[in-house]
Amino acid sequence: MSHVTDAVEAATPTVNDVMVDVHGVHKSFGPLEVLRGVDLRVRAGEVTVILGPSGSGKSTLLRTINHLEKVDRGWIGIDGELIGYRRSGSKLYELKEKDVLKQRTHIGFVFQNFNLFPHLTVLGNLIEAPVAALRRPRRAAEETARRLLDRVGLADKADAYPRQLSGGQQQRVAIARALALRPKVLLFDEPTSALDPELVGEVLDVIKDLARSGTTMIVVTHEIGFAREVADTVVFMDDGAVVEQGPPAAVLDDPRHERTRAFLAKVL
Ligand code: ADP
Ligand code: MG
Repeated sequence: MSHVTDAVEAATPTVNDVMVDVHGVHKSFGPLEVLRGVDLRVRAGEVTVILGPSGSGKSTLLRTINHLEKVDRGWIGIDGELIGYRRSGSKLYELKEKDVLKQRTHIGFVFQNFNLFPHLTVLGNLIEAPVAALRRPRRAAEETARRLLDRVGLADKADAYPRQLSGGQQQRVAIARALALRPKVLLFDEPTSALDPELVGEVLDVIKDLARSGTTMIVVTHEIGFAREVADTVVFMDDGAVVEQGPPAAVLDDPRHERTRAFLAKVL
């Protein structure tokens, strides 16, 4: 197993109440540098909303947190544990794929296009990972799944297939499926962007309910009203870096940077 020379050697994710610790993360695709040294800290129980223009690196950042993309430089910690790497002395080593998969079960991911398994029922979608990946007994997984479906208002859809549901219902199933793994943090990548306008509210309501119950979340969205109401911290990204971050009132109503102002003028 080779030593990862370009990772920060002193990687020591904070434990305490920091749940997500993104430290100096760089990521390129070929010649294109998409993340240019991103730092981000999300405390347990808090909601961080990430705003930014298309192409600014928001999705790539979420994907590195979930280790769907490897970082070129820097490191990411979740609840004090390095993602994708193991530290030994002052060096970092890449984890084996099965250990990465295990880490990934702690990180829920909700995609723009739902990504439900089309050949499984709603209940099947919710129990697949708990049974296959976490080896939970089927009956216990089903009980949890039904409770979660009730929570997202879809108790009566357990036996439906995704194609029989509206986009808003599918996205609520996707959220319940993410919760079924009892993640430490939930990542949302533009969860309402693919929805017809009249279906956006029902999905945002579910996310608001999770926020009230203290779920740690990072939400990439263009819904400024939602950010204002739900976020503890709003982060504005542009060109692969965090330009500005702070409480919603500061970033949304009194931005310090011209680029933030220009962006908000376009989306508000
Ligand atoms: P955002 O989510 O903010 O719109 P992305 O993270 O999706 O931005 O993309 C940032 C940049 O990285 C874009 O220019 C995009 O085309 C590029 N990019 C993203 N993923 C890949 C990839 N797998 N290969 C090459 N380029 C990519
Ligand atoms: Mg994106």
